[in-house]
Amino acid sequence: MSQLNLAPLSNFDIGFVAAAVIAIVAFRARSLDFGGALAACVVGTATYGALGLPGAAVLLAFFVTSLGLSRVGKARKRKLLVDVDKTGARDGAQVLANGGIAALCALGALWIDARLAVACAGAFAAATADTWGTEIGTLVRGKPRSILGLRPIATGLSGGITIAGTLAEIVGACFIAAVAMTAHLGAGNFRVASAVAIGGIAGALADSILGASVQSLRWCGQCERATEREPHLCGANTTPLRGVAWFGNDAVNASATIVGAFVAFALAR
Ligand SMILES: [Zn+2]
Repeated sequence: MSQLNLAPLSNFDIGFVAAAVIAIVAFRARSLDFGGALAACVVGTATYGALGLPGAAVLLAFFVTSLGLSRVGKARKRKLLVDVDKTGARDGAQVLANGGIAALCALGALWIDARLAVACAGAFAAATADTWGTEIGTLVRGKPRSILGLRPIATGLSGGITIAGTLAEIVGACFIAAVAMTAHLGAGNFRVASAVAIGGIAGALADSILGASVQSLRWCGQCERATEREPHLCGANTTPLRGVAWFGNDAVNASATIVGAFVAFALAR
């Protein structure tokens, strides 16, 4: 008698297949470039593999709403966000900046301390809050002001806040918290949900403060305006204006998810 000796599928197997399918769909829709699709596959496999469905629910809540919102009003945003770096398909560095810390926390929850599941959700809440704030804040118009000093600054530049964008950040963080609680992530109780929501808001706040201070900002002499692009859209090379040269948008986003993870973990204990 022949014997089928199939090992049961692990969460990592299922996570890899599901993440690969979703990454291919997003790649074909040009929401992710090739590196972005690879990175999304890694983040998805780690998150589902370590946390199962609760992790997948939180990851998808971030991923689907962020890519969806970035497609709304694309033409107008492209016109408004002329000085912002990386407005097309997300690349690998962008995906890892938003999801890398969360994926590490998920693996940590499996191998080190189960309570790190809340840190994973806190990191995704920070990434979601920041993305919703930027996308909705840009769509609703309203003149952004710098979070430090409240000077008016160009739409989409890091460190700028609007009332609509700030409200969207809070709603985005609470949305991830609600998904985490509904999907029974960690203890799945209200304490977890509040920790995730506050972590997400703290992360988005850190994002704005870092974006207004240490993030690299450059100057285009030809257009006489501040920009995050090098070279500028006009083709001219730009010169450093403020901040740390290597500390760009991805470094700021990754830092925001670290804050989100840390605050959520500390509050949920
Ligand atoms: Zn220029």
